[in-house]
Amino acid sequence: MTPLLEARGILKRFGGLTAVDGVDIRVGRGEMVGLIGPNGSGKTTLFDCLSRVTAIDSGSIEFDGTDITRCRPHEVARLGLSRTFQIIRVYRDLSVAENMELSIQWSRVGAAGLFRRTDPATTRRVDSLLEFLLLGPMRDERAGDLSGGQRRLLEIGMALMSEPKLILLDESTSGVNPTMVADIADRLRAVNAEGVAILLVEHNVQFVADLCERVVVLDQGAKLAEGSPRDIMENRAVIEAYFGAEAGETG
Ligand code: ADP
Ligand code: MG
Repeated sequence: MTPLLEARGILKRFGGLTAVDGVDIRVGRGEMVGLIGPNGSGKTTLFDCLSRVTAIDSGSIEFDGTDITRCRPHEVARLGLSRTFQIIRVYRDLSVAENMELSIQWSRVGAAGLFRRTDPATTRRVDSLLEFLLLGPMRDERAGDLSGGQRRLLEIGMALMSEPKLILLDESTSGVNPTMVADIADRLRAVNAEGVAILLVEHNVQFVADLCERVVVLDQGAKLAEGSPRDIMENRAVIEAYFGAEAGETG
C-alpha cells in the first residue's frame, strides 16, 4: 500500500549550512511516527519543508497520492496535512474558540477568508474538539491566559479543525508539566485511534517511545536510524549522537 506521506531526498540549505541533508521519510495511513534528534538536527526545518512553509532545494513530497512539492501551505492543509509549531502560534488576545475558528478559515480559503462570519457547523466542530481536548471550560477564555499545556492542546485542536489525515506536531510537550504531558499523550492516542496519522517531533524520548511504533532519528540534518523505539534506544550511533549531545548540553 502506498504511504500517506512519502518524502524523498529532502534537501534544505541556509546559505552554507545544510539543515536537512537528503532525508527520506514516510508515514503510513493512520500511523503514529516519532521524529527525534539533538537540538539543531533539522527536525523543525524538515517539518517546514513537509508542510511547505519553506522552499526546498531538492527532493519530492507526495501526500495522499498528490505531488505537493510545489504546493503552498494552505493547499496542503486543504489536502489534509496540518501542523503545529515549536514556538506556539495562538492569538493571545483572542478567545480559545476564536483561535479555533480562525485556523479553519485560513486552511479553507486562505487569508482572504479571515473575516467571514463563522457558520454553525464550524461552531459545532470547535465545541466538540474543545470538549475532546479537555478545553471545553476554557472556550471563552483569553488564549493568553491558558497554561503551557493547555496552549499546546489548543494548537493541536487548531491543527485538527480542518479534519486532517496527518498532523505534524512540533514539540507538543515542551514547557508542559508532567500531568499535562500525560493528558496530551492520552489525547494524541485518541486522535490517532480516530484514524488521523501523526508525525511527532519530540525532545522527550520516553514520550515518543510510549506512543510510536516507529521512530526516525535525525542527526546533523541526515537520517541516522529508523526502527522500533526499542531498536532506537539500543542503537549505539543513536546513543552517541543523541544522548551524547544531551549530556554535552547539560554539562
Ligand atoms: P531542530 O528542530 O532539530 O532543533 P532546526 O530545524 O531548528 O533543528 O535547525 C536545523 C539547523 O538549521 C540548525 O543549525 C539551525 O541553526 C539552522 N536553521 C534553522 N532555521 C534557520 C533559518 N531560518 N536560517 C538559518 N539557519 C537556520
Ligand atoms: Mg525544532
